[in-house]
Amino acid sequence: MLTIQHNIDLGEHTTFGCPARAEHAAVVTNIQDLQEAVAYARDKGLAIRVLGGGSNVLLTGNVAGLVIINQIYQRAECVDGHDVHIRFGSGENWHDAVTWTVSQGWSGMENLALIPGTVGAAPMQNIGAYGVEQASIFEELEAFHFESGEIRKYTAVECDFGYRVSVFKRELRDKVMITSVTYRLSLDPKLVTSYRDVQEELAAMSITTPRTLDIYNAVVSVRTRKLPDPRVIGNAGSFFMNPVITAEQASELLEKYPTMPNYPQSDGTVKVAAGWLIEQCGWKGARNGASGVHDRQALVLVNHGGAVGSEVLELAEKIQRSVADTFGITLVREVNVW
Ligand SMILES: Cc1cc2nc3c(=O)[nH]c(=O)nc-3n(C[C@H](O)[C@H](O)[C@H](O)COP(=O)(O)OP(=O)(O)OC[C@H]3O[C@@H](n4cnc5c(N)ncnc54)[C@H](O)[C@@H]3O)c2cc1C
Repeated sequence: MLTIQHNIDLGEHTTFGCPARAEHAAVVTNIQDLQEAVAYARDKGLAIRVLGGGSNVLLTGNVAGLVIINQIYQRAECVDGHDVHIRFGSGENWHDAVTWTVSQGWSGMENLALIPGTVGAAPMQNIGAYGVEQASIFEELEAFHFESGEIRKYTAVECDFGYRVSVFKRELRDKVMITSVTYRLSLDPKLVTSYRDVQEELAAMSITTPRTLDIYNAVVSVRTRKLPDPRVIGNAGSFFMNPVITAEQASELLEKYPTMPNYPQSDGTVKVAAGWLIEQCGWKGARNGASGVHDRQALVLVNHGGAVGSEVLELAEKIQRSVADTFGITLVREVNVW
């Protein structure tokens, strides 16, 4: 039977590690638990929020209502010719899922190795890294609707995936819990090696004809070297999304800042590196109380120890103002602020 806990410490459930308590919380391991938890919240008129690995949430104060902590584990695969369909329970750890598929010789998830968090949160912001987004291997998911109690299937089109966004981050935010996700992998690898970091790592490993496992190893190695480990210093990865601006604005900026990294998109817009903009404004390594900007990755805000969420948020707002004043670009948060 499901246990509802009260006034629990949530900080230790997030990678930022900022302190906050949940008014009510329930660890959910299956659909029946979830139904009971939602019924409890409905009886008491409580708002519901879902927490996976807490690697993309900044806690800025105590959380009213019920926090569902997702521990729904499941793996079921079906091989169909060269395709492998794998259904994961949404509480499965993402990196463990990637490691397992690679060890089975299945290709598709290798570029997304070492991203923290759960499988269920991956469609929420359509996670991506090193030239691949989860949308490219996505088949379908199931989501439990808090209001109706129904479980509904969603195709990729219905999820409306975009750059770090989906319907679950917009219209359906805090209205559903994703309970399972099915990915289509392949026995016939189509490897993505377009990213310079991956190419350089493969070259350093003296690999000229990479296999799926080589890409996985290269990504793990690059990420371990370049990204701050949340077990050592609290953070939630990239705090802001890379802004997408018009071609006209990009060319005006490039006249003034010829070295500005920019990535023309197929729809004519241009993606700009948020980390570069922040660094140009002098924020790299800066501090605001116990929070700060990482000294090697300006896109990552960190908790140096004992930072409260409001300090981190204040720092983020100062950065947004200074980037807007300097470049006329609005930085949008990638991290979910609770
Ligand atoms: C060091 C580091 C590196 C990172 N690198 C990357 C990267 O390369 N690419 C990238 O895209 N992201 C990256 N991230 C961000 C983060 O890992 C991903 O967004 C991840 O998918 C979050 O998973 P989570 O389970 O921790 O979600 P949480 O932080 O627990 O939740 C994030 C949001 O999703 C919602 N949510 C969680 N689970 C569910 C569910 N089952 N159903 C409905 N809503 C849900 C929550 O309510 C919350 O709003 C990084 C983070 C860190 C700390």
